[in-house]
Amino acid sequence: MAAETLNGIVIGCTDYRDNDRMLTLFTVERGRVDCKARNCRKPTAPLLACAQPFVYGEYTVFFAKDRGTVDSCDVRESFYALREDPDRFLIASAAARFCLSAIEPDTPNERLFMLLYHTLSFLAYSEQNPLDLLCGFLIHFLDRIGYRPVLTHCAVCRRDVRSDAVLFYSAEAGGTVCVACPHGGRPVSRTALEAMRRMLLLEDRDLNRIRMSESLRKDVLALLIETASQALGAQDRAVKMLEQFLL
Ligand SMILES: [Zn+2]
Repeated sequence: MAAETLNGIVIGCTDYRDNDRMLTLFTVERGRVDCKARNCRKPTAPLLACAQPFVYGEYTVFFAKDRGTVDSCDVRESFYALREDPDRFLIASAAARFCLSAIEPDTPNERLFMLLYHTLSFLAYSEQNPLDLLCGFLIHFLDRIGYRPVLTHCAVCRRDVRSDAVLFYSAEAGGTVCVACPHGGRPVSRTALEAMRRMLLLEDRDLNRIRMSESLRKDVLALLIETASQALGAQDRAVKMLEQFLL
């Protein structure tokens, strides 16, 4: 058996037997790692603290025949505050789920890892409206999986539309569509498009700077959830989790 030290965030966990839990880690070094945490559900278990959702830590994992077992963990951040706020917990769960759908074993994806890390940090510890942060997460997530929305020109005829007064947004077409092109989209304001453009310019560590009015937030969130639904499928679990924020 070989031991590896992996820096990872718990993005999934499933209980089995009386005291065990299967963890899915999003690790910097290996991408997705599924591993057992034995006896972690006993109140005095050494692995109790590291086998919780969203915990970020340095995990020592033994691998035998491609199966991992957690031996120990140095918890770096528990993001405990997420467990005390149902909306923030739900957004964190959806963000973790989005990442789960995008990563593979033995395929590091540090850019996506850092996006999740910063999103969980701000969700847990900043005063920012969590839906503003969710919008920032979603647009950067879509960008990193190859579904960056087209925001400066028409997704159909490719014409620059930044000075057009009337515009539409179609997730199916890939983003903004001009008035002359056929589309099945909805009207979109220039303010919403500009807000999304600015979000894409932000570094992950600056996502806590996103501030939107209530009506702009509602519009942008609807566009991004529609785009995520187009990218991952309308039945995707993370997409479904977020639909309640559109009510
Ligand atoms: Zn066009």
